Amino acid sequence: MSLRLFNTLSRRVEPFVPLAPGRVTLYTCGPTVWNYAHIGNFRTFLFEDLLRRWLEASGYEVFHIMNLTDVDDRIIKEAGAKAVSIRDFVAPYVVAFDEDREFLRIRPAHAYPRATEYVAPMVRLVEGLLEKGVAYRGDDGSIYFSIERFPAYGRLSQLDRRELKAGASERVASDEYAKEDARDFALWKAAKPEDEAVGAAWDAPFGRGRPGWHLECSAMALELIGQRYGVDVLDIHAGGVDLIFPHHEDEIAQSCAFTGREDFARYWLHGEFLNVRGTKMSKRFGNITTPRDLRQDGVDPGALRLLVFQTHYRQKLDLTDDALAAAREGARRLGAFARRLAGSAGAADGAAFGAAGERLRADFAAALDEDLNAPQAVAALFEFVSEGNRLLDGGELPGPVALAAWRQADAVLDAATVPEAVEVTTAAASGLAASLSEQPPPDAGARLSWAAGWANARAAAKAARNFAEADRIRVLLAAAGFDVRDRRDGTAEVVKR
Ligand SMILES: [Zn+2]
Repeated sequence: MSLRLFNTLSRRVEPFVPLAPGRVTLYTCGPTVWNYAHIGNFRTFLFEDLLRRWLEASGYEVFHIMNLTDVDDRIIKEAGAKAVSIRDFVAPYVVAFDEDREFLRIRPAHAYPRATEYVAPMVRLVEGLLEKGVAYRGDDGSIYFSIERFPAYGRLSQLDRRELKAGASERVASDEYAKEDARDFALWKAAKPEDEAVGAAWDAPFGRGRPGWHLECSAMALELIGQRYGVDVLDIHAGGVDLIFPHHEDEIAQSCAFTGREDFARYWLHGEFLNVRGTKMSKRFGNITTPRDLRQDGVDPGALRLLVFQTHYRQKLDLTDDALAAAREGARRLGAFARRLAGSAGAADGAAFGAAGERLRADFAAALDEDLNAPQAVAALFEFVSEGNRLLDGGELPGPVALAAWRQADAVLDAATVPEAVEVTTAAASGLAASLSEQPPPDAGARLSWAAGWANARAAAKAARNFAEADRIRVLLAAAGFDVRDRRDGTAEVVKR
């Protein structure tokens, strides 16, 4: 088996064959940094993180580019209202995006080009399109792309050609417009006083102005893959389904008209929406829920990753309190198993553990190779956890095969929440219980050492064959949210639930 992906260009699952063997250029449309990115945006970024991690786990060298749109209609309007430059206006949102990405354990891209730092290649692209006669100047001084001059227009979004409205009377200057309105779009917008006021205007041979949103991605992608590999076609371009039209259609038109290539990207991947439905967060924060709202609510990032990966990226996903709570349990179960597995590794695999490891490796790869079927990959992982726990209970040890299979799956999904835990170190402390309060302290850190103290007292009681006292302590710890796990070798650990 090897990787197959659903390509929006063909509406089919196709074998993935990169331009050059062993390496993949991946461009993912990044945030417009005019506000905090919401969790729906981050669902797309999580799907792209999974794609990136699976490509890397499959042995590809991935060059991942994600742009930051730091100039567009909305940014100019908001910066103007606050009377600051666009640079100053977006600065806190750039920082916030990086914090939120880090919180959700999304691997950083190799390049985060900012639109305002790539104006020169954008100007060259527009010049090229003017020379080829596929772009023209409108009466307003802006430069437009003529969709009539590009016969392949509509290929990605499968627009009925009859819906296209080409020509001067039908062109559009705004960055976003409806699918019913396929029409000539602005590549370069002539500078207005409100653009000048916030530092959003640049000189160009065809007139002072600023780039349109669609132009930004084409120019930055072509510039960066050209610099790095001397190529002008991307292997994979990904984004949310809402970007298929007009954004990606327009990216293809500009890029292919400029390069003369049939493709701008060989594979177009699109992730579905996430809806925030009836959750505490949606009530408190309205429909726009951001990762910072979730973090403030104590949502654990492992749980969120698990929740997202339990639905296929091409299916809609509802974020609800119940789904989050279930995912939280699942993430903790993975984390507890990770600890248990690491704590019991042997030099060689027990026969059943080796077989379980082989099965996990094969099932996990088969699932992700088939258009990133993460729900199936997650199911394979939980099957391994159930089987592994049963084998560990029976005294069988995991060896290199089982551990490597686990580590690979864990590294790709990264959804485990490892519980806080302490080793129970001594069984010799008789009379220890007398010095401990039966009430857990309020501080979380102190509570863990309190639990460790009681776990030691319990070990001492067991060593003295006072099983009634040992049981009483187990109940006391359980009431405070701690599990004591005895190992076969007589040692134990205490784990926060
Ligand atoms: Zn884009």
